[in-house]
Amino acid sequence: MKLDNVDVKILEILQRDGRASFRDIAKKVGITTPTVSSKVAMYEQMGILKGFGAVLDTDALGEISILLSVKSKPSDVPKVADMLKEFEEVREVYLIGGSWVHAKATLTDSTHLNEFISALTKIQEILDYDYKAIVGTIKEESRAVLSEGINAVLTCFYCRKPMHDKPVKIKLDGKDHFLCCPTCVKEYKKKYEKLKKGI
Ligand SMILES: [Zn+2]
Repeated sequence: MKLDNVDVKILEILQRDGRASFRDIAKKVGITTPTVSSKVAMYEQMGILKGFGAVLDTDALGEISILLSVKSKPSDVPKVADMLKEFEEVREVYLIGGSWVHAKATLTDSTHLNEFISALTKIQEILDYDYKAIVGTIKEESRAVLSEGINAVLTCFYCRKPMHDKPVKIKLDGKDHFLCCPTCVKEYKKKYEKLKKGI
């Protein structure tokens, strides 16, 4: 889906202020409130908009943030990244290719930091590690840089593969769902019905 001028404006407002009301957004962008509401629902369904979390200042909370690099055999990298992800302390995990995984972690104090590092050293697949405490944060912004014409890569709601061609759009309970092929449409509808009956 190509983002147009209106999408960019809405997403920019929300990225700056997750609490902006749909009414205020509608006024600023020059569209109706229901349009904003349905567009935001679509961004969420498409996975462009992942949530409206509060931004807490870890410095003000007296916490320690570290930049962490861990080394493993390249074949173990996915497994190590998965294990890192499971730590509550780990806030961000990045794959950069090769045998290193980079992460950012936040710890409450130095005892917590020591416990965390000792837990890491118990993971067999981790061959080496290095970390540096962050002593100052000069800039920290969400990474999405918005501009008109950006092609949002949708992932199929069923098989989760990125869809570079035009997705199949189906409406279920008044909401849009995007799928890559007729097979996924069929399977997705089955799964959707099952889930609905379960609720
Ligand atoms: Zn699919």
